[in-house]
Amino acid sequence: MTKKFHVGILGATGVVGQRFIQLLQNHPQFEIAALAASDRSQGKTYAEACTWRLPGEMPDFVKQIIVQPPAPPLACDFVFSSLPTEVAKQAEEDFARANIPVISNSSPHRMGPDVPLLIPEVNADHVGLIDVQRKNRGYDRGFIVTNPNCSAIVIVMALAPLHANFGVTSCVVTTMQALSGAGYPGVASLDATDNVIPFIGGEEEKIEAETLKLLGKIKAEAIEDAPITVSAQCNRVNVTDGHIASIRVSFAKKVSTADIREALSSFRAVPQQLKLHSAPERPVIVRDEIDRPQPRLDRDAGSGMSVTVGRISEDGVLDYRFVALGHNTIRGAAGAAILNAELLVAKGYL
Ligand code: NAP
Repeated sequence: MTKKFHVGILGATGVVGQRFIQLLQNHPQFEIAALAASDRSQGKTYAEACTWRLPGEMPDFVKQIIVQPPAPPLACDFVFSSLPTEVAKQAEEDFARANIPVISNSSPHRMGPDVPLLIPEVNADHVGLIDVQRKNRGYDRGFIVTNPNCSAIVIVMALAPLHANFGVTSCVVTTMQALSGAGYPGVASLDATDNVIPFIGGEEEKIEAETLKLLGKIKAEAIEDAPITVSAQCNRVNVTDGHIASIRVSFAKKVSTADIREALSSFRAVPQQLKLHSAPERPVIVRDEIDRPQPRLDRDAGSGMSVTVGRISEDGVLDYRFVALGHNTIRGAAGAAILNAELLVAKGYL
């Protein structure tokens, strides 16, 4: 049997940290060796520090691990980071400099010109930026790789096959985002109940910028943004998990509804070819029922790693419109980072 990589989780007690632990149980390549969180949790066992909020029991194998500060050295081969933005920037740089690669879900490094912002189905070739980053920053074994914002992943998984086939020229998107996207305890119940909140700090800007980098091309030592106009509006809605995006698009080519349906449902990419452990068989699932996708019914498709698209139809303003849905803490966070790590192993970076 091949030796497993020892991994650390930064922000291990949070919403995304708990998903990492759940998804890494019985992982064939990765074994949890270290857990880190805030000074509120440090020095306690994970069982003492963490109130487990996912369905099912806290896995036994993490209960007695002592929670450490999110700073090197940690006894592991690389770390997954789900730290809050304000601490992630410095902590992640410290790990990379200490020769511990960082696979992050946090936002501060995503738009760094030498930082891969990865969705393995969409831009696996952007891993080449790691070499640029190591050279620029003098890192030896370390590096920082990020996954996108949890709504940007859902949107771009649906746009990528359309852009590759028909050239997306503009895109207008309105999201309805789950409460778990705000972490725990997140949005106060009295704000969320019987309500929709038409503001999520920084989210619209992230979707607009990250989409262009994700669909961009690696040129020389940087990413050239995709030439698409993107406009996003974001809403927090009273749903536990699963972000929905209503998307309108225009294309460079003339296309039919059948062309769009075929491009989405036949989409397969590097993770499926490499048979990466967390890769869903179908990255995008197209549903033809008039009232799908819905968070409760579709967020767990492909074990939470598939994006579900429905309501494909012509649009009176742009060319076409459709609705996309994905699980924000799996495909949008922990599952995305784990798939990134599997790609990095396959490409020889870990
Ligand atoms: P969360 O539930 O609030 O968890 C935050 C985690 O960070 C906890 O483990 C917490 O530890 C730790 N932490 C808090 N302050 C800290 C500090 N000063 N120093 C060290 N550790 C600290 O948040 P989350 O939803 O898991 O989000 C974590 C990160 O992932 C954020 O950057 C977020 O933007 C990103 N993200 C979240 C989602 C999502 O759907 N939730 C999706 C994509 C990306 P204690 O328990 O000890 O306080």
